[in-house]
Amino acid sequence: MKIYINGKFYDKENAKVSVFDHGLLYGDGVFEGIRSYSRRVFKLSEHIDRLLESAQSIMLKIPLTKEQLIKAVVQTLKINKLENAYIRLVVSRGVGDLGLDPRKCTQGPTIIVIADKIALYPEKLYREGLAIVTVPTVRNLPEALNPQIKSLNYLNNILAKIEAANAGCDEAIMLDSLGYVAECTGDNIFVVKNGHLYTPPQCMGTLRGITRDSILEIARRDKIPAHEHVITRHEVYISDECFLTGTAAEVIPVVKVDGRVIGQGKPGKLTLNLIKKFKELTVKNGVKY
Ligand SMILES: *Cc1c(COP(=O)(O)O)cnc(C)c1O
Repeated sequence: MKIYINGKFYDKENAKVSVFDHGLLYGDGVFEGIRSYSRRVFKLSEHIDRLLESAQSIMLKIPLTKEQLIKAVVQTLKINKLENAYIRLVVSRGVGDLGLDPRKCTQGPTIIVIADKIALYPEKLYREGLAIVTVPTVRNLPEALNPQIKSLNYLNNILAKIEAANAGCDEAIMLDSLGYVAECTGDNIFVVKNGHLYTPPQCMGTLRGITRDSILEIARRDKIPAHEHVITRHEVYISDECFLTGTAAEVIPVVKVDGRVIGQGKPGKLTLNLIKKFKELTVKNGVKY
């Protein structure tokens, strides 16, 4: 495996960054998780745009243009000869001193591209659906650390993941500060009621996921009524179907929430249909390499 760090490729054993990197010391940085399917990088332009927006928001100046970042991702896939891959693009504040002042990171950001395989959940769960639970840890408040920033500081989500695991579940529903459903630890959430799709709006505690947007894009195209609307836990409990979306997880059904069986207790018809349509979208689109 070859890993890209600041314009050079290193073997896995030698792909190292400094212990003074503020990505490690403070989680100071931004990232993207991207997938390629059949030698096409899915929604690469959208991912790079979101990375640049996250960076802009935290005043992290990335010394590469959008085109150069795209090239770095494509080169990493080519050199590793991967047809289907999960790509992790990381930009940290770079090497500084032990203080948190980012102005001390004078060498510039550390840019890393790792391309590998990833299966977030076993195949069985895609067929049978997940059991998830609402956890006590509230999603970061937008006025404190806006969830639109895909930052390296993931502790908010990790705490929720731990709480889900403690409850014997695979995923966590995180609420926003008003108590509405925000999202899961690394995935967005959708429910289906009477043939309509609902997903929380991107304000408050919900990251605007690119997989989420792809599902909304499919819904628009195929005239499935879809709404970005606040959702309560009650509305999740009484939904006909529920599923999660994210680049790593893709689209995965949910069949149990906080002990309540959702719908018939198995992946719903519209969910399965959307999984199929999403798969079709991924192999037909994207930047070729
Ligand atoms: C990345 C991420 C998602 C999913 O976004 P995609 O663009 O679909 O991968 C959802 N929630 C959080 C907190 C994330 O970090």
